[in-house]
Amino acid sequence: MKKFLLVLLVMLFSLPVMALTVEVKTAGKNEKIVCEIGYRLLNANQIPYKITFYVINNTKDPNASTYYRDGSIGVYDSLIKYTQDENELAGVLAHEISHAIDYRQGILRGYFSFMNVFNSKNYEYKADKRAVDFMVKANYNPIGLIVALNRIAPEYRYDVFSTHPLTSRRTATIYEYIYTKYPEYLVQNEYKDNMIYQNFLITSKENRKRLEEKIKSNSTKKVKYL
Ligand SMILES: [Zn+2]
Repeated sequence: MKKFLLVLLVMLFSLPVMALTVEVKTAGKNEKIVCEIGYRLLNANQIPYKITFYVINNTKDPNASTYYRDGSIGVYDSLIKYTQDENELAGVLAHEISHAIDYRQGILRGYFSFMNVFNSKNYEYKADKRAVDFMVKANYNPIGLIVALNRIAPEYRYDVFSTHPLTSRRTATIYEYIYTKYPEYLVQNEYKDNMIYQNFLITSKENRKRLEEKIKSNSTKKVKYL
């Protein structure tokens, strides 16, 4: 009887462990890829904040968002379906990591960072540029961010009522940042035959002309992108 009780006791204590093993074995592919890319970005860039990643079931909006409350990053599974390689997904995650960092900085561990919404466009540009830096440091191709945005972010007529700048302005600004800081990615452009990148080249013709004029004239003035 004593032996039976002992066996029962051992079984009871081992139950949670068994359940955990099953859970790990059946863990989703999406969660795995998001964590792998997310932690590669965090570690390569020595981000000192604790940031976690979640996958959210949403078949409609290929997107991701960062929660002000705890700095966690939610990735919609439709984003994983739409992006075609790790660079693209890394671009979106790196952008969100920048928001998560901004949410933790300032007084009271960033308690008032929700005020960022009043200056949201600047934070978007900052997150795009910082994403390029994070990607390069983690050995991702930053052109993946341009491709991802061109693929998932629609273009509104005007940006006055939006928290985000127009996608055309964002992608042109990222292009300029890569051109200035990491031109080697444009010289050895592995995306040159990519359909989405070619579409970006067509739609950004006027903006790239403006950048070319700035470079030719050696001007330090900010380019006014369309
Ligand atoms: Zn953003």
